[in-house]
Amino acid sequence: MPAQQPGMVYLVGAGPGDPELLTLKAIRYIAEADVILYDYLVDERSLKHAKKDARRIPLGRPYSGCKTKQVDINRQMVEAAMTGQIVVRLKGGDPHLFGRLNEEIQSLIDAGIPFQVVPGITSATAAAQVAGISLTDRRYASAVAFITGHLSHEHDPTLPALDFGQFAPFPGTLVFYMGVRTIELWSTALMDNGKPSQTPVVIVYNASWSDQKTVRTTLGDAATVVKQENLQSPCIVIVGDTVQAATV
Ligand code: SAH
Repeated sequence: MPAQQPGMVYLVGAGPGDPELLTLKAIRYIAEADVILYDYLVDERSLKHAKKDARRIPLGRPYSGCKTKQVDINRQMVEAAMTGQIVVRLKGGDPHLFGRLNEEIQSLIDAGIPFQVVPGITSATAAAQVAGISLTDRRYASAVAFITGHLSHEHDPTLPALDFGQFAPFPGTLVFYMGVRTIELWSTALMDNGKPSQTPVVIVYNASWSDQKTVRTTLGDAATVVKQENLQSPCIVIVGDTVQAATV
């Protein structure tokens, strides 16, 4: 019997949640898929485009004790594609940002499986829209930095350490992903390195979902406000003078 031809893996950005923020290409590949492995950040309504008999595999929620390990995700993708199936790996936001995209791609390359990446709307821009902010309002910011608040270095010393203090003099808007749990640490580091405590901050919880929430504060008060409002992941935290020019 001839060897089974591998199928295809589409690594697809699902956008921030609202299924209407999927791209047409994302919808097309979801509709073609035999297997869909999807992140906890993906709204299950996005799966309504899938074939009735498509296998839908949720990948668990971080911090809830049931997160699927990266090696297991890679293995499931590879195994499904090896049997000739079309696989969609549906990832929150844009797969290129804080999405371990290259680790997944490497496992596909190693297994000789063809793949394609489909970009998506990242949660930073979705959160900016919800809060009525232009991340690069030219009166306040000519640059924007996307920063992770997840301290990967502490878990794995081979990964680069992030010195939040280095961002204090950054001449633009700072956008933190995965930053609510560590907000006390990085906001203090920014202030210790000269960023004014009055710098405006907006925190957007669950941008584009029905329970989305926007909280405005300052850098000096941000950690307290996160506690008071009991803000949990997923949140985007936007720091910078452009926040004061919100249009909503
Ligand atoms: N690739 C994703 C980011 C993955 S990292 C993207 O481009 O958006 C996970 C982090 O993304 C969360 O901790 C949170 O900071 C942010 N995030 C994802 N979806 C979000 C949403 N709907 N609202 C606010 N933050 C979100």
